[in-house]
Amino acid sequence: MKSIYLAPFGMIDEEAMSTLETSLWQIFGFDIKRLPVLPEPEYALDQKTKQYNSTLILKDLLRRVPNDAVRVLGITQCDLFIPMLSFVFGHAQVNGPVAVISLARLHQQFYHLPENKLLFIRRMMKEAVHELGHTFGLVHCSDTQCAMSLSNAIQQVDKKTEELCANCSILFDEISKHIRRENGMEIVQ
Ligand SMILES: [Zn+2]
Ligand SMILES: [Zn+2]
Repeated sequence: MKSIYLAPFGMIDEEAMSTLETSLWQIFGFDIKRLPVLPEPEYALDQKTKQYNSTLILKDLLRRVPNDAVRVLGITQCDLFIPMLSFVFGHAQVNGPVAVISLARLHQQFYHLPENKLLFIRRMMKEAVHELGHTFGLVHCSDTQCAMSLSNAIQQVDKKTEELCANCSILFDEISKHIRRENGMEIVQ
């Protein structure tokens, strides 16, 4: 049975993790498992900006993909960047096995506002669905409500939902059927 693995770097809030597991299972239909907690990705730290290079984190995750994994999603509190971009909420290999999301900018505290855990968890779900969507081959969607719409700022994250729009869902269903067939998994309609 192929599963989506969550790979936490350091300790991540347990309520957020279990809520995420449930919604990813509902949206993608694959079992959700966890890798043991990984050490903080110090190898990816940029001394000048104090941000973490997400490409290096994806390389690390690639070495850790379990045999029964369909995808691996890294989750880190570290603020991520891709060279040329000031920051990213997440980074994925399109059609590849790994993705990572950063929780750093999903906290209200980052914007000097009182923390709101429910809002934080919803933002985490949206970014997780977005980056996993990319690993399944989905591209950016023009529907601003769709989890696959591009977010460069937290306002755009808040505008979208953690659901895939009808078009993206149809695409994902096709891709997921293909993966299940390739892996001899039962196809549930
Ligand atoms: Zn994207
Ligand atoms: Zn969409």
